Amino acid sequence: MIARPSTLLIGAALGFGMLGSSTALAWTHTEQVWLAEDMPIRWYSSDDGGQNTIANCDASGGTQGCCEESVPAGYCLESAQAGFDNWHDAKCADFDHEYAGFCDNSGYLLDFQNHFTFNDPDDELDLGVIGETLTRTNENAFILDGVQYKHSYDSDIQMNDNVVFDTADRIRNGNCNGGFNMEEIYTHEIGHLMGMGHSCEDPKKGGGPCTDPVLIEATMMWNGGPCSNEAETPNEDDIQGFTALYGPYASFSCSHQVSDDLAIGVVPFDLNCVIVSDYLSEVTGADWNFGDGGTASALTATHTYTEPGNYTIQMSVHGEREACGPDGWNNDFRKVGYVRACGAPVPSFEVAHVDGLKYQMLNDSDVSVYGCISAIQWEVFEGDGTSGKSIIPANRAWEPVIEFPDNGTYTVVMNLGGIGGTTAAKVTFDAKNHRGEGYGCDNTSGVGGFGVLSIAGLLALATRRRRT
Ligand SMILES: [Zn+2]
Repeated sequence: MIARPSTLLIGAALGFGMLGSSTALAWTHTEQVWLAEDMPIRWYSSDDGGQNTIANCDASGGTQGCCEESVPAGYCLESAQAGFDNWHDAKCADFDHEYAGFCDNSGYLLDFQNHFTFNDPDDELDLGVIGETLTRTNENAFILDGVQYKHSYDSDIQMNDNVVFDTADRIRNGNCNGGFNMEEIYTHEIGHLMGMGHSCEDPKKGGGPCTDPVLIEATMMWNGGPCSNEAETPNEDDIQGFTALYGPYASFSCSHQVSDDLAIGVVPFDLNCVIVSDYLSEVTGADWNFGDGGTASALTATHTYTEPGNYTIQMSVHGEREACGPDGWNNDFRKVGYVRACGAPVPSFEVAHVDGLKYQMLNDSDVSVYGCISAIQWEVFEGDGTSGKSIIPANRAWEPVIEFPDNGTYTVVMNLGGIGGTTAAKVTFDAKNHRGEGYGCDNTSGVGGFGVLSIAGLLALATRRRRT
């Protein structure tokens, strides 16, 4: 085996997105992907590598774009083609590419076209970098395992002309001239173009120790050495990562859904979920985890939510396709915080003296389930009942300061509303005009030392939460 000096980079995926860094123990993604509508992925070469344009090269590397002098004419293009084709080893993945022809180098960045250049036209690559992929994305593509992937629209690969290359054949036949396997480098860079990150990352970029031979020998390993062909074609780790991007894919959709990311219901309620996939005919099984301890194993699943909460649903789909091998394919999909299960609001408040006849409402209502409370309104009644008309204008603050008109007994009502209905809490107390010294310092109330006059009493104006 040929040593892989760690000083040589196989190229940084420099895209404007961040490299996936979820784990150092398996494949990663750049989170930049192409979608079915982009197929076949069209790419241009800055030079066709043939005899005609080679003649246009000048000695300094030039601006014409030319193939690399260390490999035969035509080989740049041939190895780029092979780099794409090698990813078809991921038999369960659906993608296609098409060579679109020659295009000159000028203005190749940000032009919505995929350019492969063989001579670092802008002289941007540092010594030690063999090649580089620059990918631009715009809108969102899809969410995979809770991570938002972006849709690629332009990905350019450039090779460093300060590096000596070799052909895969020469290396295979033991005739290596000491150069880097151009096909191997292309397979790696095209991996980046397609959205693959590194199997192990450069420690200088935060990569951890890399000891697993499967990751070290992966095409997407961050570094490599000359005269190598062990990473020329993707290995099992590369194939798994690539298939996660372009293999059969399934998501789900459920009743009570108000958007792709959110289903809202009032407990208890039944959520009915179905698999959404272009590959439904291949699907043979699914496992669901509803986030509250409930699970199901069925293609369509129903689950009863009984407790208020924000829940994540996770689904694992299994499918069969000959090309995917005897184990078929699997796809995991989850929607984080997808279910908002609301109960009736649980209002609670206390009243604290501020100064004179001003009192502060201290809101203790249950807000543990995000998004279930949408309205609040305070009312004040004279006496210890709630008959008649509120003596204050409608107040919709969360913790208002209320000034009472005179000494006397009042009943304060807080109405709390949301998808689970409206519930009210009330506090009856004696307002007393006296000089306050701020919250927490009023000893005249007789309850504790904090001016708290009464603990909320609950008025069951709506059904409380219940178990079924
Ligand atoms: Zn790389």
